[in-house]
Amino acid sequence: MAVNYLQPVTMANPLVGPEPTTLICPSCKASVTTRVDHKATTRTHLVALILCVLLCWPCVCVPYCVNSCLNADHYCPSCNAYLGTYKR
Ligand SMILES: [Zn+2]
Repeated sequence: MAVNYLQPVTMANPLVGPEPTTLICPSCKASVTTRVDHKATTRTHLVALILCVLLCWPCVCVPYCVNSCLNADHYCPSCNAYLGTYKR
């Protein structure tokens, strides 16, 4: 298990998905269900811009409220370590 010792803990975890995931936290070694923060991506801003041009400005907030347009950042609920990002 020491093979990945030199890799930073902040490396994206390919196992995480769009929803909270149960995994072993590499930081505190506990079995946790991740806390997910949804972040806007470049695509989110593009969709917002397109909606703004084609429709009207109140639509701009729509893609920021739709989780399917957002990346999912996973954090450990126990030690708050960053565990990985699910990219759209
Ligand atoms: Zn942890």
